[in-house]
Amino acid sequence: MWVKKTEQEIVDSRKRLQREGRVAAIGLWLLFTLVGASFPGYSEMRGLYLLPVREILQRAPVVALTMFPVLLVYWFWWGNRRKKNALNVSQVCLRCGATKLSDGVDDCPCGGAYVNMDEAKWVREPGEKE
Ligand SMILES: [Zn+2]
Repeated sequence: MWVKKTEQEIVDSRKRLQREGRVAAIGLWLLFTLVGASFPGYSEMRGLYLLPVREILQRAPVVALTMFPVLLVYWFWWGNRRKKNALNVSQVCLRCGATKLSDGVDDCPCGGAYVNMDEAKWVREPGEKE
């Protein structure tokens, strides 16, 4: 059955989502930096597809700085997307277990109340066998 998470559990899972967003943004930044630093620009094409490692390392800090705005844009987009989704999240009825997308109505026909899925968790019924 579905039960509402404790405040602490809700805070924990929100924190985990934020951490995942940060890790994704930084991972993306490192990836772009590596890719950007590894390939010679058109002006310096010397028949090489990849630059020597020494040159990649020399270029990396400059490329990392250039990529920083990309990171910020991604961060902004991530936060914005989550805000937009706030009106379109899954909800579950704690009484009958029905699910729906949030539409501003929290009352379930069964008489129970819908809560956001990220505020609820599934637990085994008391006495239910594994
Ligand atoms: Zn219900």
